[in-house]
Amino acid sequence: MLLIGSHVGFKKDSQLLGSLQEALSYGANTFMFYTGAPQNTMRYKIDNNLTKEALALMEKEHLDYSKVIVHAPYIVNLANSDNIDKYNFAINFIKSEVKRCEELGIKYMVLHPGSHVGCGIEEGINNIINGLNKVLGDTSVTILLETMAGKGSEVGSKLEEIQKIINGVSDKDHIGVCLDTCHLNDAGYDIENFDKFLENFDTLIGIDKIKCIHINDSKNEKSSHKDRHENIGFGHIGFDTLINIIYNEKLESIPKILETPYVDREYPPYKYEIEMIKEKKFDNNLLEKIKSQ
Ligand code: FE
Ligand code: FE
Ligand code: ZN
Repeated sequence: MLLIGSHVGFKKDSQLLGSLQEALSYGANTFMFYTGAPQNTMRYKIDNNLTKEALALMEKEHLDYSKVIVHAPYIVNLANSDNIDKYNFAINFIKSEVKRCEELGIKYMVLHPGSHVGCGIEEGINNIINGLNKVLGDTSVTILLETMAGKGSEVGSKLEEIQKIINGVSDKDHIGVCLDTCHLNDAGYDIENFDKFLENFDTLIGIDKIKCIHINDSKNEKSSHKDRHENIGFGHIGFDTLINIIYNEKLESIPKILETPYVDREYPPYKYEIEMIKEKKFDNNLLEKIKSQ
């Protein structure tokens, strides 16, 4: 069965229940959320009553909570330790975010590996490994390293870098990968021939490590190293290639998460994109349709 959803909000007063209701309003059967704003590390206390209500509603809707994803905020950086206070803050914050996942009963947390900001790729990778080894070990949460576009000094735009990080992590059962189609394209991977990409991935890392896929089109060409997401079918990856990835048999049980931009920064596209993906037919007028609803 296709597992498709999008990233959704997580608000102070509605929390997991609000996130779930937003996902359901898009016709999604899975979702991803940040436990607060993605750009900052301010977090509120988890309200267990709201979590309970959400779990009951998921059961009623037959939504598989074991595959719902949390995304760590993207401002914490494990790849650079030049400022040791900042580095330790990042480790401690990710630790607390993992705790929040446990409190919520979440199994998977996506993490950007980070940017080495000048210390070099090898040292960057070592910093990430050291940080992850301080977070993992006694948690039930699996951290999913996201494949990156290679913007600036980002680590993780090459599968070999992700491979090295995983090799250095002690708790192998709690480390995995989240693919992002826009990032793969911008990093220079040929995802038009996705089976071949998966073969390469399997040799380097193991296909069983993939636990989540971000489905985004890209505003830029292959190898652009830009990381700007586009609506499904309206970018340089294109509808057919994305459909081919979404419906790949080897990844059938893996949740597919849309992180495409709001139309005119105002209208969430997810309900319409999910419908179009289910119909497997590209609608050239989709963005106009979204704006007029
Ligand atoms: Fe991400
Ligand atoms: Fe992503
Ligand atoms: Zn991105």
